[in-house]
Amino acid sequence: MYLPDFDYYAPDSVAEACSLLAEHGPKAKILAGGTDLLHKMKHGELAPEVVVSLNNLNALKEIRYEQGRGLIIGARATQNDLATSPVIQEKYRSISEAAHHMANNQIRHIGTVGGNIVNAVPSADLPPILMALGALIQLVGPTGKRTMLLEEFFLGVHQTRIQGDEILTEIIIPEQGFTGSTYIRFGLRRSGALAVASTAVSVTMDGEICRGLRIALGAAAPVPMRARAAEAVLLNRKITDELLEEAGVQAAQESRPRNSIRGSEEYRRDLIRVLTRRALKKAITEGHV
Ligand SMILES: Cc1cc2nc3c(=O)[nH]c(=O)nc-3n(C[C@H](O)[C@H](O)[C@H](O)COP(=O)(O)OP(=O)(O)OC[C@H]3O[C@@H](n4cnc5c(N)ncnc54)[C@H](O)[C@@H]3O)c2cc1C
Repeated sequence: MYLPDFDYYAPDSVAEACSLLAEHGPKAKILAGGTDLLHKMKHGELAPEVVVSLNNLNALKEIRYEQGRGLIIGARATQNDLATSPVIQEKYRSISEAAHHMANNQIRHIGTVGGNIVNAVPSADLPPILMALGALIQLVGPTGKRTMLLEEFFLGVHQTRIQGDEILTEIIIPEQGFTGSTYIRFGLRRSGALAVASTAVSVTMDGEICRGLRIALGAAAPVPMRARAAEAVLLNRKITDELLEEAGVQAAQESRPRNSIRGSEEYRRDLIRVLTRRALKKAITEGHV
């Protein structure tokens, strides 16, 4: 379980980091918190010859609100930063809650939101709630920056649209007038267990009528996914408990979960039905929880 040899760089700017990645190509890997990367290197699953640490890029740790732009979360913010940030707690407590309930205390202190996204595993906790809130991500490379919807970033397990010389620098949640949002996960233990299934929702209610919503599912397909058919059940309708159950059933139907040691496909589908119904109810009745 020793790390293989590698050259280590800790650049002082994003531009310098990108040129190191461009120079070394597929031989280089970015290191953020290292909770995934170093684990894979120790187990022989990855052996990069060059490791480019983001450790000196302190601007990427910032979490702030910009009028007109929304909530900006630096990619190096740790799960603990998300859980305790006053601005996140004020705007979208649901993000803080998601971060607070994932992994364990040690991991939350070093694991970053950028690593959680780029690692691209179906059970990752942060992508569903960020997708439900309509998050955009900013990628910076040697030739400039580009922005895309987070929900368009994922291609498959460990596969994303990021180029080898690009860095995920920030996550942006534009203001969209949601009245509520929440994230609910089910793990086999209360702490330190990956999600067997999870549901994140955002809603915009006008009295009893749902005028806008997003439902995002985790561990429900090879990539974090929107449950669009379930969303269509509720849009512009007066919300009742029966309709919430129907949306849960629809989310379960459109999901594509896998059989694994943590749960069968059938079990996960049933979890998705129940979690979706509960998450919707919570966000509609309690706001940003
Ligand atoms: C014991 C344990 C429990 C865990 N529990 C959970 C859990 O409950 N829920 C959950 O979602 N995850 C969990 N994880 C997984 C992991 O902790 C998270 O995915 C974490 O957020 C990864 O972030 P990191 O900064 O450590 O990433 P790293 O390991 O540093 O990087 C992960 C990958 O992303 C790339 N990368 C990192 N940052 C960037 C960036 N800014 N731009 C471009 N590429 C980048 C790296 O090159 C690497 O390929 C757990 C891990 C462990 C070891």
